[in-house]
Amino acid sequence: MKKSEEKPIKMEKKEIVEADEKKVSSSLEAQTVIPTAATGPAGPIPSAENERPQRLRKKRKLLMDSGDEEDAIEDEEDKIRGHQKRGKTTKHGKSASAQKKKLWNWVSYLEEEKMPAAPLKLFKEHQSFPQSRNSFKVGLKLEGIDLEHPSLYCVLTVVEVQGYRIRLHFDGYPDCYDFWVNADSLDIHPVGWCEKTGHKLIPPKGYKDGEFSWPTYLKQCKAQAAPKTFFKSYNTPVTPTGFRAGMKLEAVDRKNPSLLCVATVSDIVENRLLIHFDNWDHSYDYWCDASSPYIRPVGHCQENTISLTPPPEFKDPKCFSWESYLEKTGTQTAPARAFKVRPPHGFLPQMKLEAVDKRNPMLIRVCTIVEIEENRIKLHFDGWSSLYDYWVDADSPDLHPVGWCAKTGHPLQLPPGVADISPVPGQCCPIAGCKGIGHVRGPKYGYHYTAVGCPYSEVNLNRESFLPDRLSGERPLPSHHTLKARRLETPNPFPDPSPDSPQSRSF
Ligand SMILES: [Zn+2]
Repeated sequence: MKKSEEKPIKMEKKEIVEADEKKVSSSLEAQTVIPTAATGPAGPIPSAENERPQRLRKKRKLLMDSGDEEDAIEDEEDKIRGHQKRGKTTKHGKSASAQKKKLWNWVSYLEEEKMPAAPLKLFKEHQSFPQSRNSFKVGLKLEGIDLEHPSLYCVLTVVEVQGYRIRLHFDGYPDCYDFWVNADSLDIHPVGWCEKTGHKLIPPKGYKDGEFSWPTYLKQCKAQAAPKTFFKSYNTPVTPTGFRAGMKLEAVDRKNPSLLCVATVSDIVENRLLIHFDNWDHSYDYWCDASSPYIRPVGHCQENTISLTPPPEFKDPKCFSWESYLEKTGTQTAPARAFKVRPPHGFLPQMKLEAVDKRNPMLIRVCTIVEIEENRIKLHFDGWSSLYDYWVDADSPDLHPVGWCAKTGHPLQLPPGVADISPVPGQCCPIAGCKGIGHVRGPKYGYHYTAVGCPYSEVNLNRESFLPDRLSGERPLPSHHTLKARRLETPNPFPDPSPDSPQSRSF
């Protein structure tokens, strides 16, 4: 029905992609690397030499667990500065360190590996080369979704800027809950957005509901709000979707993907839908668009003889019928025409790309696709054991085309062994390939020195989370099996719809 409206948008996007393909080839050739001990063979950016010491200082401030680590970092910084100086002065390779210095670039790497780069056209706009620069600065405040609690909007501060990415901090909470997003993330909004759109803003810890006001808070913190024009959501045209808040559908539980469940569109922001599972707690909610493969119209399960998981009050799934449920709840179904078909992602095994390492989200690594599914790809980190491979949605904002780091000014972690230099004693973690960057306890710690703190050690590898829930303080459960059990046992703490839930608003 909206075909005529969609067409011009697609054409425009194509032109941008073509223009970008030309730009990329030049950025790929220009990419060279001066490896450093601190970031591994990272940082192929023209300004990297100037930025790195500053970044290390920032990290040092974040270190809290031991004085030893601080001393080590200080040594580290000196070494890096020295290394960089030598790199500059011995341009023609007179010293040993200059001989060790190798240049790395995607073009020769792809030739060596005899594998292709994933074509730029396969990447969505939010994965591809940004159209504008990252304007965010450390200290700016904003509102945004907590991805662990996707229905909640929180008060956030930018605490680190790295290329086109920003690290955000929940005001009033420990640093370990900080998280990274791209500067064009639709999960973030300017100060005042919640009030304007009728969403509830969760105030910083320590503030009671109704006590919080942005103008007073900014004054108290002597902080500034991030200007509206920095936000992608501010510039995104909204296409009518045919979905309305409160409509019912059948949706995959992303935490238990074998379950298709009775669900509600509980919020709509820009072109995205918040999916909530009827009478389950909000931690299972997720955001998606109308073409998401995880949502289906009411009746999909019956038509395809798949079992539908009803809300928890239906002890026997056979007792559930959509007809009586809709009547009882006085709700409507989302119209079948609102669901869009997503075209195949087009990624193939052996294609290379750059991807955020979920175990250490401050890092972007050189990756190869090793397997594909209809909506997902399996990533392999080049030079690492296949133990670390994992599946990721093909439209994840953490996937980027080759050359993205170089172009956006983000360090790129090269495969271990490539363009490598000998590790600095005391710096390197015992796990093969790991440079000791990051920490299993979150971005509060810049470095780790032992397998216990290492995101890649055997003990930590398959743990979902190491932190208690930010809001409830509940400890994470050890595996997805118990998670499933928790879902089946947990009484619903949020009656649905709750008085402040977006469902009570009209659209
Ligand atoms: Zn490690």
